[in-house]
Amino acid sequence: MGHDLSQDAEIWDDAYKLNRAHVFHSWHAQRNLDPTEVVTGHGVWLKYGDGREMLDFTSQQVNVNIGYQHPKVIEGIKKQAELLCTVGPDYANLARGRAASLVARRAPEGFDKVFFTNAGADANENAMRAARLFTGRDKILSSYRCYHGNTGAAISATGDWRRKPNDYSRGHVHFFTPYLYRSEFSATTQEEECERALAHLEHVIQFEGPDTIAAVLLESVPGTAGIIIPPKDYFKGVREITKKYSILMITDEVMAGFGRTGFWFALDDYDYTPDIISFAKGCNSGYVPAGGVIMSDPVAHRFDDIVFPGGLTYSGHPLAMGAIVATQEAMEEEHIVDNAYTIGKDVLGPQLTALYDKHPKIGEVRGKGVFWAVEMVADRTTKEPLDDATMKQIVAEGDKRGLILGVHNNRIHVTPPCVISADEATQGVEILDQVLTAAGC
Ligand code: PLP
Repeated sequence: MGHDLSQDAEIWDDAYKLNRAHVFHSWHAQRNLDPTEVVTGHGVWLKYGDGREMLDFTSQQVNVNIGYQHPKVIEGIKKQAELLCTVGPDYANLARGRAASLVARRAPEGFDKVFFTNAGADANENAMRAARLFTGRDKILSSYRCYHGNTGAAISATGDWRRKPNDYSRGHVHFFTPYLYRSEFSATTQEEECERALAHLEHVIQFEGPDTIAAVLLESVPGTAGIIIPPKDYFKGVREITKKYSILMITDEVMAGFGRTGFWFALDDYDYTPDIISFAKGCNSGYVPAGGVIMSDPVAHRFDDIVFPGGLTYSGHPLAMGAIVATQEAMEEEHIVDNAYTIGKDVLGPQLTALYDKHPKIGEVRGKGVFWAVEMVADRTTKEPLDDATMKQIVAEGDKRGLILGVHNNRIHVTPPCVISADEATQGVEILDQVLTAAGC
């Protein structure tokens, strides 16, 4: 046995100092950062450097669907590491082939090819690239309420031949997608919201010029934007409109995929088939970074005889692939997606709704599976968002009580790992109840 790092207080003190001295953190002004040290984890629990065991209601960046330190995934990575740690994307490799087949089998029929990326942003980059090359058009339509990743300028800054077929830094148009609670369309029912949002999309397409539009790119459940569950018929309607104008449809399953909504893909709960699906996070819960694009057969075959001008040194990295294979197998064997569905239906749904009845500053509770938003308001009538200071207090009150809470603007996103048990989910909601009382909500 090697030295047990988790027991060594001095090392953890060093960990903090070294991080503060040398790590430049994403999405933050750096000066006043005070990152919490994490030592290890198990299931839905994380162990902090100060020894506390925390119940994680975030799954980090909503990616640890299978929970922390799943033994089968660790074993899968170890086995692959012993066999072959790295090999370039041009070679055939068993883990890569198996990972691609396991991912593709979760997509609708007629999706057989997977292009692997390092994460979700570059999955979407390549999904858009494929759509633009397929159609010969450059505009991508996407929602104002969405997040698709943090890349985009790199290829336009590139100087060699690879820039030329990809030089589309212009060409992004936004539109409004359904969000009944804050309807852009003065709708009062989901049906009205759906119908009016579809009419709006078709107008945007007509005014932009259908023959300039390559694809409509949509998250199957807008996640970071507020876990906004689209109405039942919305995607079917988008599909009809996009078909009418020969526009491709890209579904972003990066956050919503692999069990998060209680389905393998969130799109399984809707009646439509897109042309391209992007994925990342839950495919291997981020044990080793990976993402990718699943292409429908017509899109994939477009590149049978012409070059796809995209690639990455680590596309299909063996360790990431080993982690995908083990994750996919464990999720199936242990019925983890079914668990997420049941937790949503029997525990989180009813219990979070009960919080709504008790706490007047909850404006709306919405979600499914282990993907829920509790939208906080200063006043239920005006729907004015709850102030930032109280939202920060909510996180701090959770921390004091051993619960890690994710807050985005005026919403608490309840997104625990898909492996959470009914008891653990109940424990978390009970703490959230106390937190809301303590924060005067
Ligand atoms: N797409 C969606 C829906 C996401 O939620 C995210 C990240 O949160 C991304 C894409 C980008 O993924 P990554 O951060 O792995 O690049």
